[in-house]
Amino acid sequence: MAKVLIIEDEVSLLKGLQDNLEEEGYKVVTASNGKMGLEKAVNENFDLVLLDVMLPGMNGFDVCKEIKLKKIALPIIMLTAKSKESDKVLGLALGADDYVTKPFSITELLARIKAVMRRVNMHRQAKEKKLQTYKFGNVKVDFVKLEASRNNKKINFSKREFDILEYMIKRKGEVISRNDLLDVVWGYEVFPTTRTVDNFIARLRKKVEDKPAKPKHILSVRSVGYRFVA
Ligand code: CA
Repeated sequence: MAKVLIIEDEVSLLKGLQDNLEEEGYKVVTASNGKMGLEKAVNENFDLVLLDVMLPGMNGFDVCKEIKLKKIALPIIMLTAKSKESDKVLGLALGADDYVTKPFSITELLARIKAVMRRVNMHRQAKEKKLQTYKFGNVKVDFVKLEASRNNKKINFSKREFDILEYMIKRKGEVISRNDLLDVVWGYEVFPTTRTVDNFIARLRKKVEDKPAKPKHILSVRSVGYRFVA
């Protein structure tokens, strides 16, 4: 049974969400301010966090940032009262996995929760799987020997580049968030920004794409991350 933490200061909304999620079979823990929510998120195990943006004291963006510093793989859906594009972008840049704009229907929220959890599961499975060799376009990669070539010319990949590429190949065709990449490659060490991921991908494209500016394999997915196609 999936365990969800809801951080929301509006008592009636918090209660309503709790009831609805429990009815759907989720185990629910609640917090009515950011500080308390952060503490629970860090100290207990959850499968997902629903996080309001406008909270007294510590706001949702700060809570999101702090949670991701300590538990990058814990998925967060932001509940935002504003439909401002800048809020959505900021939330996603700070590591949120998705957002819903208030007022939202419970059906929409449940669908988002399921979608995020499905993504998280695919992420976990991909992390555990091991690849041997793979070919795409003119590129050949041997993940066992850590060797790669394009048009039969050696490519010098760093260990991290091998890791990113392997992960992307294992999730071929799926949308891969920057968070997923951060988690699989950088893990819990010094927290790099999502910008680090973008720089990394840019370098990777130069090595595997014939035209890095018009990539055929490592595609961008607007405001979310990337998609690998063979
Ligand atoms: Ca609020």
